[in-house]
Amino acid sequence: MTVFNHPEFQHEQVHFCQDKASGLNAIIAIHNTRLGPALGGCRMYPYNNDETALTDVLKLSRSMTYKAAMAGLAYGGGKAVIIGDPSTDKNEAMLQAMGHFIEQLNGHYITAEDVGTSVSDLLTIAKRTHYVAGISDKLTSTGSPRSGDPSPATAYGVFVGIKVAVEQRLGYGHLAGLKVSIQGLGKVGYQLAVLLHDAGVKLYVSDLNVQHLQKAVTELDATPLSPQQLLQTQTDIFAPCAMGGILDESLIEQLPVVIIAGSANNQLATERIGELLHQRGILYAPDFVINAGGLIDIAHELGIHNPKQVHRQLDNIGHTLTEIFKCSQQQNCPTHSIACSISEERIHQVMDAA
Ligand code: NAD
Repeated sequence: MTVFNHPEFQHEQVHFCQDKASGLNAIIAIHNTRLGPALGGCRMYPYNNDETALTDVLKLSRSMTYKAAMAGLAYGGGKAVIIGDPSTDKNEAMLQAMGHFIEQLNGHYITAEDVGTSVSDLLTIAKRTHYVAGISDKLTSTGSPRSGDPSPATAYGVFVGIKVAVEQRLGYGHLAGLKVSIQGLGKVGYQLAVLLHDAGVKLYVSDLNVQHLQKAVTELDATPLSPQQLLQTQTDIFAPCAMGGILDESLIEQLPVVIIAGSANNQLATERIGELLHQRGILYAPDFVINAGGLIDIAHELGIHNPKQVHRQLDNIGHTLTEIFKCSQQQNCPTHSIACSISEERIHQVMDAA
């Protein structure tokens, strides 16, 4: 396995962490801390091999740098992955060992939840480190209590993003009557489904977990589909809310939608896919812009949590996307490229000022 020659390696630090007693094998990648300490979730996933885990953490941490810069947050990009199946391999000692490794980084990396980890896992990690976000109980903007879980904020940000994408691509000021296909009904996907259902959307859903699927059928009158069927079903919007890399050439050649807007990180299998989506007239909401809600939420938790301010910043995801869509149209340039340029410019401005 190569690290320094890895095509995704442009990082400040990469840490390989092992605790044989608990079975922990993990990688922490700190991409860029020019804007502040690296903030990003800890994923637990049964990677096929170490190389795949490394590639994932390098890509995920890089997109956290872009996400924080785009959302105007004083944080850098980092991410951690634990190699293992969260349903069978996770244990208290492993999570505490992870906390120990994070603590040793002295705050250069702050962790949070991600795929395969939950608030309760993060509370275990927090027994050994101060550098955990997304665990403190807080209030919503309407004053109701809620847990530290950032997923509702992510789902709300994606919902806001879908509304502006619909306005841009279809010219509608509402979602009622539209069809949306959602891949993945986990922490974010399900809450997005609820928001869309309440807005009058007809849902088509797929999840590998049958219980998640059944809940959406019973509670949201969603149409359940196999993963393959979902990608062949004609809807207005495709919302990828499962794993990354889903948008590849073969899929987008036949994907029967006009908008792609979902929470999954790193949706584009390669940079070129952004160009192909643009050529095909599919409006793509760049993932690191539309899914920034959770990061905004935990960044505020680390400072002074003002629910109304968080809500304003989540709504701002819509304004940012509108700007990106307009620039994309004016410059005839893919939305993904526009979003990357804006983020890079922000990071360079801070570097130049330092
Ligand atoms: P999760 O693990 O709670 O949910 C993922 C769901 O996708 C699971 O129900 C799983 O069964 C399902 N799934 C996996 N592969 C699938 C497939 N091929 N077809 C259909 N369903 C499949 O994760 P989450 O927290 O909801 O995150 C979803 C995505 O959003 C991830 O890519 C994550 O990195 C990203 N994201 C999450 C947050 C957050 O606040 N949780 C923030 C930003 C980005």
